[in-house]
Amino acid sequence: MDDKPPMTSVTDIPLIRPSDARSWSLCARRVWLDNKGDLELPPVTDEFDLLIIQLGLEHESAVLQHLANTRDVHTATSPEDTKRLITEGVQVIYQAQLVDEANGFIGYPDFLIRHESGEYQPADAKLSLNEEKKEIQVQLGFYRRMLGSQLPAIVFLGDGNEAVIGDEANVMTNRFVTEMRELLANDDEPVVRYGHSKCCICPYYTHCKPAFEAKEELSLLYGIQARAASGLENEGIDTITKLAETDPITISDIPYLKGSEKKQRAVLQAKSYLSGKVFQTAPISLPEGQWVHFDIEDNPLADNVQRHVYLWGFLVPGYSNENFEYVWTDTELDDEQGWLEFLARIEDYRKRYTPLILAHYSNYERTTIRAYAKRYGMQNNSTVKYLLGETSPLFDMRKPVLDNLVLPLQGYGLKDICKHKDLVNFQWEDDESGSQWSIVQFNHFLAESDPKIKETLKSDILGYNRDDVIATRRLEEWLRSNFITPY
Ligand code: SF4
Repeated sequence: MDDKPPMTSVTDIPLIRPSDARSWSLCARRVWLDNKGDLELPPVTDEFDLLIIQLGLEHESAVLQHLANTRDVHTATSPEDTKRLITEGVQVIYQAQLVDEANGFIGYPDFLIRHESGEYQPADAKLSLNEEKKEIQVQLGFYRRMLGSQLPAIVFLGDGNEAVIGDEANVMTNRFVTEMRELLANDDEPVVRYGHSKCCICPYYTHCKPAFEAKEELSLLYGIQARAASGLENEGIDTITKLAETDPITISDIPYLKGSEKKQRAVLQAKSYLSGKVFQTAPISLPEGQWVHFDIEDNPLADNVQRHVYLWGFLVPGYSNENFEYVWTDTELDDEQGWLEFLARIEDYRKRYTPLILAHYSNYERTTIRAYAKRYGMQNNSTVKYLLGETSPLFDMRKPVLDNLVLPLQGYGLKDICKHKDLVNFQWEDDESGSQWSIVQFNHFLAESDPKIKETLKSDILGYNRDDVIATRRLEEWLRSNFITPY
């Protein structure tokens, strides 16, 4: 995270920085705390975050080198120096520093590139493969606004492509500026709702969570969105305890909480939160057949493909560690080969296990198969059609859980359910492991030249993926023994 910005001498509030766009897009309180809070945050130690920082710097350096091969590049040392370089009309200004005290703006575009018209185009190096991300649009839109430029801004994407951002980003950029002005003018921490996915990865989690819990904030409950929480509060149901004591029939239809089923789930979720009990709302049925558990690991930081699946992992009948099978590729250069081996593996399972049930958790595996079929123009391939067709063997285990159970959890991810000691109670061999951990290890694997260390890294990643598929097997067993009545 950046240090706090300087204050304007004009308004005595922090200058608005485009680098705030990411926090702003996630949470108003987060961006307020970044700018006006007095909390000391520990330095970044998360391996995934550090990897992103390192790769970002390497990418910026590669773009710098690329520009320097054909143009004269000058590094700016201050806002005044940036102005001087602009006045001199140098071809490329690296690490430009723009300050607009009157409007309360400060911005550091990676590059200002002189166009043949004499105007400068702001440009940033971004690891992302997609310039449409809100924060990228706002950041580049903000630089254009600071420069008063009609020329599009340039994004040097992580895959080596260049994208441009023009007037289409103006509306969002103006909204960012307006909202930031309001936020920064306020001396009080903004009131916001809890959001499990955004909060549990936020550096202010330990600051915010106890206060949410103390007031029994309704959005702590799985499935209660901010607008549903406001609607409930308008009806006088302003704590989890009150919601747990409410007859669902008496709750009006409110945004994101319409229909008796959703209201009943909301009340049960409140009861489960308070008591730790599990509620079953409907019978669970699981498909009959020979189950193979399936999970993939992919690298979103690959250079040339959107996401390179380096590991397609399976747990086949027998269901012990020895029954773990997989398709592995060393680099994204083997991406297509890995995909073809995966399809061949599916045909093999189709013959060995009849009827085949390919169990996974969440829709991600199905989405990835669809993306790979498109990537290699194989939508009409018979194995792809089998996998994605009406009689698909794919079975998303998240569905019976979400449709029929209310659990004492704030997130219904595989690890949330499996690690909970009163639920599945399955622990991964490496407690530190996770999907981001796996990405970090794979990137270490890519960078490593020592074959022995490479083998150890691969073995660790395989062990993690093996535990993932064993976890879905344990979940299946837990569902069968607790929620399915045998004939
Ligand atoms: S923990 Fe949640 S509410 Fe608090 S600042 Fe972070 S994202 Fe916002």
